[in-house]
Amino acid sequence: MHFSGLRVIREALTGHKGWKPLWRNPEPQPAYDYIIVGGGGHGLATAYYLAKTFGRARIAVLEKSWLGSGNIGRNTTIIRSNYLLPGNEPFYEFSMKLWEGLEQEFNFNAMVSQRGILNLCHTDAQRDAFRRRGNAMLLAGADAELLDREQVRAMAPFLNFDNACFPIKGGLLQRRAGTARHDGVAWGYARGADMRGVDLIQNCEVTGFRIDGGRISGVETTRGYIAAGKVGVAVAGSSSRVMAMAGMRLPIESHVLQAFVSEGLKPTIPGVITFGAGHFYVSQSDKGGLVFGGDIDGYNSYAQRGNLPVIEDVAEGGMALMPMIGRARLLRVWGGIMDMSMDGSPIIDRTPVEGLYLNAGWCYGGFKATPASGYAFAHLLATGRPHETASAYRLDRFARGYVIDEKGVGAQPNLH
Ligand SMILES: Cc1cc2nc3c(=O)[nH]c(=O)nc-3n(C[C@H](O)[C@H](O)[C@H](O)COP(=O)(O)OP(=O)(O)OC[C@H]3O[C@@H](n4cnc5c(N)ncnc54)[C@H](O)[C@@H]3O)c2cc1C
Repeated sequence: MHFSGLRVIREALTGHKGWKPLWRNPEPQPAYDYIIVGGGGHGLATAYYLAKTFGRARIAVLEKSWLGSGNIGRNTTIIRSNYLLPGNEPFYEFSMKLWEGLEQEFNFNAMVSQRGILNLCHTDAQRDAFRRRGNAMLLAGADAELLDREQVRAMAPFLNFDNACFPIKGGLLQRRAGTARHDGVAWGYARGADMRGVDLIQNCEVTGFRIDGGRISGVETTRGYIAAGKVGVAVAGSSSRVMAMAGMRLPIESHVLQAFVSEGLKPTIPGVITFGAGHFYVSQSDKGGLVFGGDIDGYNSYAQRGNLPVIEDVAEGGMALMPMIGRARLLRVWGGIMDMSMDGSPIIDRTPVEGLYLNAGWCYGGFKATPASGYAFAHLLATGRPHETASAYRLDRFARGYVIDEKGVGAQPNLH
């Protein structure tokens, strides 16, 4: 089924009777060449690129719930490539480039909106750090502009510029950054993978791995055993639990991050605005709701719901930055489980079990990474070699001392 303006008009005139389901609902086959565990953004993107770019067949995605039920459908939708370190910036810029052509590539509206991201700075030291980050971005081929206080005021006059703790001194702007419709991204990748013969199997939880002589031979699931040549695990907040079934302990903690949406308001916020000093970030959806977030819940948890003290903490951050937000009614709050790695950067690597591969540790940043993560993981599964932009995301970096500590805060997941 091809989507086009003409098609929308034709369906509107004929009672919308011609739309078809976006993907099949197949029964699991006894064996596949590639099994991807986790039908979130990264798992679906991996299957899509495996089939499309690397020409692989006999692929299944196994999802314990429904496609897109995890973090891909729970995040605050921010996409950007404003990273500092050489292990990260080229990867996230590769992702930005894929975002820029994504909707045309898979003929699906994911509402990719490059309305810009503005990181505010509140001290001279923070401005120096942003100058360095901006230069690193430019060197990696991304865009970056350092704004002074008056340039920020012209963009967002409603911010509190003279807060005693957090006076706004300027900001780092990336104009190509922005937002995308999170579940639309999952649906687009799912549809694209299904069209290329990938079996997307929902309500199929992986409950164990069959490993013979150090090599993976298949997975145990709630719908029976399925043999596999290679298995890629992309289960986000469940990474520690799933990999424990293969006898591995990961350098990851799981925490809940909450997202907030207000009632619809007239267009106010020009793009995404982040307030790193107090930890609050906000954008406005196309329907007008303010979409925002802040700190993670401080304790480890696998429950997909948050707590009230963090709601208060995020609201305080919002009020410090833009007092007018206190007048908006909050409509919805929800939580997702994030696998927080010990340096805040992801893992895309083979594991000690031959044929078993891992994609994990995305912390706050996995949504923006969805296209590049899927591409790089598919590259690794198909060729056995890491993609050039993801070569630093090795699992053993924590043992070897080659961590990619983007925020410079060490092994403290709550600070990422
Ligand atoms: C509130 C919130 C806000 C966020 N905001 C942003 C943001 O603005 N920008 C950004 O870049 N990132 C953001 N993130 C992070 C980002 O959403 C995640 O890092 C990213 O979505 C994780 O990858 P995924 O999409 O594959 O995960 P998921 O969608 O969680 O996919 C993993 C899937 O694995 C399935 N699964 C788990 N165990 C099994 C099993 N045993 N068998 C089969 N399936 C299994 C789960 O059901 C789930 O569907 C945010 C996260 C949250 C929670």
